Amino acid sequence: MAKILAVTNQKGGVGKTTTSVNLAASLEAVKRRVLLIDLDPQGNATMGSGVDKGQLEHTVYQVLLGSASVVDVRVSSPSGKYDLLPANRELAGAEIELIDLPGRETRLREALREVEREYDFILIDCPPALNLLTLNGLCAAEAVVIPMQCEYYALEGLSDLVNTIKKVRAHFNSKLEIEGLLRTMFDPRNILAQQVSDQLQQYFGDRVYRTVIPRNVRLAEAPSFGIPALYHDRLSKGTQAYLALAREIVTRYFPESAMPDQQYQQT
Ligand code: ADP
Ligand code: MG
Repeated sequence: MAKILAVTNQKGGVGKTTTSVNLAASLEAVKRRVLLIDLDPQGNATMGSGVDKGQLEHTVYQVLLGSASVVDVRVSSPSGKYDLLPANRELAGAEIELIDLPGRETRLREALREVEREYDFILIDCPPALNLLTLNGLCAAEAVVIPMQCEYYALEGLSDLVNTIKKVRAHFNSKLEIEGLLRTMFDPRNILAQQVSDQLQQYFGDRVYRTVIPRNVRLAEAPSFGIPALYHDRLSKGTQAYLALAREIVTRYFPESAMPDQQYQQT
């Protein structure tokens, strides 16, 4: 049964999509079957996976509204290595159209039942808002991955998110947990970043991933090629960091699993 993880933070530009796309590629590289769901009308995870969001007949929008199934809508990323449930701007309309539908918060969860045995991980790239789309992501997930930049207002935003998670847990999804907090675009020479990172570890302990994602130009430029950075430059620091994150996550869920490190080097 797939582990369903929502990559979420209501703040934009913190690395949600970069994390979703590169973690999808990295989990595949350590031999896991992955479905990536783009739940953001901006369609960045779709484009970043090499799928042209302007050319799509069906997207996650139809899945949420119930007029298509996940099986009908999913595509292989052009690299062929993970599956993608794509999105484009049409999804912005779902926010309003869902309001009057039954089970509006849990429609993604219901739709995923059909495929959850086919994957080891289902990753959901959430939009930068605490809206009904994000709520569908949080209701479908068993845990959240929270990418964050270690800057001044980060902890404040985090407490809003933690409160939302508590509410979702109380009303819709009692099992929802924080899988981990991921420090992104990290610059160890920045003293403020170090301080925020220390505070984060004080509050959240081992729920802060050991893996830190550095600021890295390969991660920033990969979307312009429409591929995860791993397929573009597998030795870059950014790529290696996301591979390390994939191993850290896999080890949490499958502690007995073989050395993914070695598996990766064999590919
Ligand atoms: P979000 O999905 O949270 O809005 P993105 O993943 O789109 O954030 O990242 C915002 C911007 O920062 C993008 O231009 C992306 O390429 C860039 N970026 C993200 N992570 C990194 C990183 N580790 N190093 C350099 N640039 C990054
Ligand atoms: Mg995004």
